[in-house]
Amino acid sequence: MNCDILVIGAGVLGMSSAYHLKRLNPDKRVLVIDRFSGPGQGNTAKSAGIFLNLSTSEVNHNLADSTIDWFYHLQNDLGYNLNLAQYGYLILLDEARYARVKRAVRKMQGRGIDLRTFEREELRRMIPDLVIDFDDEETELMGLKPVDIGVLGVRCGSVDTDALSRSLESEFLKIGGEVSYNTTATRLRLKPKKELGVDGEPFVWQDIRVMGAETDRGSIQAGTTVVAAGVWSERLLDPIGFDSLMRPKKRVVFVFKDPRLEKLIGVEGFSDYDVLPFTKIPEISVYMKVDLAEGSIWLGCADDFGRKYGLEDDPQPESDLYSNNIYHALVKYLPCFKDVRPVNMWAGQRSINRYDISPVVAPAPGMIYVGSATGKGITKCDALGRAVAALYADEEEVELYRGWSISVADLGVEKRNMGNEAFKV
Ligand SMILES: Cc1cc2nc3c(=O)[nH]c(=O)nc-3n(C[C@H](O)[C@H](O)[C@H](O)COP(=O)(O)OP(=O)(O)OC[C@H]3O[C@@H](n4cnc5c(N)ncnc54)[C@H](O)[C@@H]3O)c2cc1C
Repeated sequence: MNCDILVIGAGVLGMSSAYHLKRLNPDKRVLVIDRFSGPGQGNTAKSAGIFLNLSTSEVNHNLADSTIDWFYHLQNDLGYNLNLAQYGYLILLDEARYARVKRAVRKMQGRGIDLRTFEREELRRMIPDLVIDFDDEETELMGLKPVDIGVLGVRCGSVDTDALSRSLESEFLKIGGEVSYNTTATRLRLKPKKELGVDGEPFVWQDIRVMGAETDRGSIQAGTTVVAAGVWSERLLDPIGFDSLMRPKKRVVFVFKDPRLEKLIGVEGFSDYDVLPFTKIPEISVYMKVDLAEGSIWLGCADDFGRKYGLEDDPQPESDLYSNNIYHALVKYLPCFKDVRPVNMWAGQRSINRYDISPVVAPAPGMIYVGSATGKGITKCDALGRAVAALYADEEEVELYRGWSISVADLGVEKRNMGNEAFKV
């Protein structure tokens, strides 16, 4: 099979790249392959589906903010129901943690990012179940800190990732893009630009480039290959010596649906939705998301330090992680969780770039890599897809949705310049 551009991976980043590549190069044959049977079934499907524009790095902020604008374009102008719900992103902090991020908060506010702070008494009033102060021995022994302040990102919320992946696929197919599911790339085809047809090629003195991929359904020859295989990209990239600045790490999500949690779900005053914002309690490494459609609460465990790196094909959640671990601290802050057990759970893997916790879009001969989004691939998917298309066109700048433009090289490896990401909670 031959194509001009082969995209490996039909997650949000592969589909967004494919769509923008085809949109800007209507005469080129663009083919997306994925080992699953449809779009967005890898870690896109495992994600919490939160979008957030909180970032001190101007580049990251533009990637996220423009993608959020584009989500609204998809929903309001193109008619895809992405179940967008901008109900905010609330971070509950004690004084010491807040002191560490205060400058970052001010910096973001100074740049016009809508961030509000809530004092402890306001939080107590608005989230009736929240315990902000502890006076028992056990909590002291556990070393848990009180809640002193809440920081709310207003332009943050939830998107239905399945609907998002399908809308991208649909827009791509509409303009003549092609997909081949149930197709696994087994390796990249590394060939000399000028083949001599003799044994031993490619020789070190030849100009080599990626020219498609071998798959379990045959060989695909391509002028350019976009590797958007998420955490699995390393299986294709390590053998050709390309460093994607990424390491995979598991993250577990638990789902709760119980009448005892209703008062937590229906809190008022943070947004027009009158629902608990996406809420993070860094002190105990958890975050919560209300699933409006199901009336359930998703609880993710952000146990970054202490959890090993390593690629897994089918990561499994550890039920003990909730019952013997998170639970003991969670009920101290939110007693409504007492005796409530998860009704569902899953685990996915995030592709973590520890260097600057920012995504990578980088070229190699015949190839473009996109990924390493460090838990924000949904949030930045449109902008990163546009960056891939700009790199393909050899452009120095990428114009993001609604007109911002950024330097493509900033996202790369060689001349990387993502700015300082100081908002780490
Ligand atoms: C628990 C969890 C919560 C998260 N929450 C959020 C969040 O709230 N907000 C946010 O912005 N981000 C979040 N993320 C991160 C987000 O899910 C990712 O950044 C995003 O999905 C990455 O998209 P992707 O297209 O790179 O990867 P994927 O969606 O994993 O897509 C890669 C695709 O490549 C395919 N593939 C891999 N290897 C091959 C091969 N050899 N041949 C063919 N196909 C192949 C896979 O089948 C897969 O479909 C979360 C991640 C996890 C794990």
